[in-house]
Amino acid sequence: MLLLPKFDYHEPESMKSAFALLSGLKANAKIIAGGTDVLVNMKKGLISPKYLISLAKMEELFVLEPRKKSTAIGSHVIVSELAESAFLWKNFPVIAKAASVLGSPLIRNRATIGGNIVTARPAADLPPALMAVGAKVELKSKKGRREVGIDEFFLGPGKTVIRPDEILTKIIVNELPPFTGGDYIKLGHRKALEIAIVAVASRITLDKPQGVIRNARIILSAVAPQAIHAVSAERILINEKPTEKLIERAATLAMQDCRPITDIRGGEEYRKEIVKVLVKRTLVNAVKAVNRKRQK
Ligand SMILES: Cc1cc2nc3c(=O)[nH]c(=O)nc-3n(C[C@H](O)[C@H](O)[C@H](O)COP(=O)(O)OP(=O)(O)OC[C@H]3O[C@@H](n4cnc5c(N)ncnc54)[C@H](O)[C@@H]3O)c2cc1C
Repeated sequence: MLLLPKFDYHEPESMKSAFALLSGLKANAKIIAGGTDVLVNMKKGLISPKYLISLAKMEELFVLEPRKKSTAIGSHVIVSELAESAFLWKNFPVIAKAASVLGSPLIRNRATIGGNIVTARPAADLPPALMAVGAKVELKSKKGRREVGIDEFFLGPGKTVIRPDEILTKIIVNELPPFTGGDYIKLGHRKALEIAIVAVASRITLDKPQGVIRNARIILSAVAPQAIHAVSAERILINEKPTEKLIERAATLAMQDCRPITDIRGGEEYRKEIVKVLVKRTLVNAVKAVNRKRQK
């Protein structure tokens, strides 16, 4: 059995105290949210912080505020709440779907959206979904507040722009334009408790019913050090009608947009083929979602 090393535990009740602890304890301290990564890494001896600063008593980080123009999701909202939110399924189904396939019920009941973002795993489920809807994150420290687009937040596996004295406080998602649809599909060896071999989040916005595509985001996950845009695939969709032929072309281009590795869960060529299949499926489902909304 793997045992945890010794550490001191702090549970500040205000952001002010959390910032004071962070700046006082500096490199010896680590923030803990759900602990599903932190505690595992401590047990494995990969990290050994002397102090853990829990965010569990910071109520302002628990909000999921359904607003029309822009929605704020507190960084301490747990994944199962995202997966069960009727508001998210209606307005941002890509996020709700990604949350619903993250880990197992046990993990979803502990893991937080903030932790899933800050961990910056190449195959994490929520970052691609948040990139598909163009989310921003709010970072706060004693010195002030800044907003960073989710595309700019990740620097590589386990690396982000967050500074040691900062806390990720919320995720902000603007209302999506009309005639928008999206989907998230993850392929793993098993149905539950599986890190993605490949995952794709897509989102399109048409200019009008049966119209042309005005905005397209195709995010590929687990095929590069961090989730990436399938740039050339996104580009050829713009100002075109979403026909089967166009979607097929976009899916083929997406294969060239990624640079997967070969590892125990899948080879490079296999992963590229899966990218093609999943891009096609998510785009077809995105178009269907636009049409479904119109019928309501
Ligand atoms: C068995 C198992 C299965 C898993 N399956 C999946 C899966 O299918 N898909 C998937 O994406 N992940 C999976 N994970 C990974 C994990 O559950 C997620 O990465 C989780 O979302 C991390 O959130 P947490 O709240 O537990 O973070 P923690 O472990 O508490 O923290 C993670 C990191 O984020 C930092 N941090 C947390 N919150 C903040 C904040 N607000 N501000 C600044 N820094 C912060 C911590 O300091 C730490 O570095 C799995 C993990 C396990 C153990």
